[in-house]
Amino acid sequence: MAEDTSRSIGPIVLLGPPGAGKGTQAKRIAERYAVPQISTGDLLREHVRNATGLGVLVKDIMARGELVPDDLLYDIVADRLREPDCKRGFILDGFPRTAPQAGWLDAFLENEFFDNSEPGKCGPIVIRLDVDYNELLLRLTGRRTCSLCGHIYNVHLQPPRVDELCDVDGSKLIIRDDDREEVIRERLFAYERQTQPVAKYYEGSARLVTVDGTLPLEGVSEQIFREIEAHSTGC
Ligand code: AMP
Repeated sequence: MAEDTSRSIGPIVLLGPPGAGKGTQAKRIAERYAVPQISTGDLLREHVRNATGLGVLVKDIMARGELVPDDLLYDIVADRLREPDCKRGFILDGFPRTAPQAGWLDAFLENEFFDNSEPGKCGPIVIRLDVDYNELLLRLTGRRTCSLCGHIYNVHLQPPRVDELCDVDGSKLIIRDDDREEVIRERLFAYERQTQPVAKYYEGSARLVTVDGTLPLEGVSEQIFREIEAHSTGC
């Protein structure tokens, strides 16, 4: 994959349920355009690790898997987006997760991120990875992890050579707790519940694009790169 640093791609928001390949695609976009991938989950975990004032406030909320209140996030997101490495663009992973966060992001970008921008001109390109529910279940429930080396297989899509044993070291493959079917169904429902309002916020905006996430990895990236290049305004 050739690196392309010739253009400013501006802000990119990736939306997609667990299992849609969001993390993988975010990394590929970051590599191709040499822009940072910004995960609010990572930023918050760093505060928890360092036991900052914010870290102490959010620790228990995060441990319960609940959303951190919107107004606790805005300062850390704003500070990160003001870093010089964000000038040509950035990929937001895990933000916005609520409609008010999406509104805050638009206002932030308009007011202070891009000089001389026309209103609305420099809103994010929002890429929604579309994978149907049954395919997600297949991907997530088929996942097996080597108990020794951590190598990941999929019994439906990328099975090991010998049933339930790792190709690399012959150790037994296990199902991680959060890959069990009942937990997966809950994670998928939680995603729907939480992000529906965010998708709704962006629906109707020319900048929301839906990409078929069921294609092979390279094909999904190609579609995403095309969309980014078609929509980036050089802000
Ligand atoms: P993640 O790594 O994206 O799964 O995020 C881990 C945890 O951080 C979530 O379960 C939330 O508690 C918190 N978090 C991350 N991003 C957000 C956000 N945009 N809004 C609210 N809470 C968030």
